[in-house]
Amino acid sequence: MIYLDYSATTPVSKEVLDSYIKVTRDYIGNPNSLHSLGMKSNELMKSATKQISEVLDIKTEEIVYTSGATEANNLAIIGYCLKNTRLGKNIVVSKLEHPSIYGICDYLKTQGFTVSYVENTKEGLIDFEDLSKKVTAETILVSIVGVNSELGIRQPLKTLRQIIKKQNENTVLHSDLTQAIGKVNVNLHDVDLASISGHKIYGPKGIGMLYKSEKIQIQPIIHGTEELRSGTPCLPLIIAFSKALRLAITNETKNESVVKLLNDKLTATIAKYPKIMINKTNYSIPHIFNLSLMNIKPETFIHALEKRDIYVGSNTACAKGEISSTIMAIYGDEKRANTSLRISLSHLTSFDDLNKFLYSFDIVYNKLLELGWENE
Ligand code: PMP
Repeated sequence: MIYLDYSATTPVSKEVLDSYIKVTRDYIGNPNSLHSLGMKSNELMKSATKQISEVLDIKTEEIVYTSGATEANNLAIIGYCLKNTRLGKNIVVSKLEHPSIYGICDYLKTQGFTVSYVENTKEGLIDFEDLSKKVTAETILVSIVGVNSELGIRQPLKTLRQIIKKQNENTVLHSDLTQAIGKVNVNLHDVDLASISGHKIYGPKGIGMLYKSEKIQIQPIIHGTEELRSGTPCLPLIIAFSKALRLAITNETKNESVVKLLNDKLTATIAKYPKIMINKTNYSIPHIFNLSLMNIKPETFIHALEKRDIYVGSNTACAKGEISSTIMAIYGDEKRANTSLRISLSHLTSFDDLNKFLYSFDIVYNKLLELGWENE
């Protein structure tokens, strides 16, 4: 098997899975129970939270565990908006967000909020001037994805926040860091709220977190107890997530250099196909390689590769079969946006696998090109 869809999800690393199993087996107590088994679980949870706070350089009180980034995005944006309505009812988002952000915007519109969409440059960077214009006295929150999931475009969050604060010092910045954490260096002090997911960093599915600066207030979206996120904490998932996060951040630079070499090889080879468009800007991180087949349907291509036990992605796993809004926002070309493939790389990808992939890519591409769009 050759797996090249790491931005959709990653396999759980051995150490992480081992700790998940160990905690499931050895810590049966509910961390909220008063007896010794509960206290034992609670202590383990506290130490994992402390380790996360250290690796992210934040306070333990600033961590809220969630089921993943989608829930963290919901809690951050809806939780902040509902709590701070008195400050205004406008939010600003980019055109490069994950579909979950647009779903949240649609919901907030039903609650009387207005949503403004900030423009980006041809390179995919947020247009600073437009951001200054879009942030008004009514704007309470701006949400900008740290690394875009389709083209891997990375935003200068610190600068964006300075621009936002200059316009309105009460406006907070949320960033979906799902594709950024463990891939590039991120400073959580550059944002007020941030979403992180476990299954993109070799951790299990079903766990993630929201970073919430202690300076700001949000309202729960899941109600039950006094907590910001009610429900029994899933200790094995939290421990596994903590381990995955520490491994991802510690090995980030080393892993990034491996991925960069793989990306260089991929780019140089795919650039030789005259009809294929490479969707990449100077701000794309090397872990994500996006191309548009132009004359072939991506679904057909993905399934043809699958028959060879090779797995690549379409735009994002969460927007199956839909036109790529990111490619539209950057290139404004429907055909390009309708025919994209995402090949996402990992430090686990070997050059041998990449060569095998490129060999199969060539065969599948030439065969499908010959058949033509209509005859597939
Ligand atoms: N945001 C981004 C940028 C993503 O790439 C994804 C996963 N496709 C998500 C959010 C959703 O994450 P989760 O599966 O943890 O809810």
